[in-house]
Amino acid sequence: MLLVCSSRCGGGLFRALFAEVEIDASGVYQDHRVTQPGYMCLNCGAPALDLGEVPAELEAEAREDEAARTVTADVLCPVCETMVQLDANMECPNCGSPLEVT
Ligand SMILES: [Zn+2]
Ligand SMILES: [Zn+2]
Repeated sequence: MLLVCSSRCGGGLFRALFAEVEIDASGVYQDHRVTQPGYMCLNCGAPALDLGEVPAELEAEAREDEAARTVTADVLCPVCETMVQLDANMECPNCGSPLEVT
């Protein structure tokens, strides 16, 4: 997690907004409930952003792109029964038979 103030005020303290703490008449903690996600800058009151979540999302997208680029198919050669991983090469590396991606 890496919180920053959305107003870029430079404040380094934040308050979690997602829980309301319930106390009894003497001030003893009873319970809390989640109200909304997020954090607030204690310096200026602006909502805070969690920069720590952004790179993880970008990384996941990059991995999906990578998987989409390297499309391969496993094909069993009908001649020599070698399991061949095809990309651009459409011939069996073992016996040279032409292969079809099914
Ligand atoms: Zn702020
Ligand atoms: Zn073959």
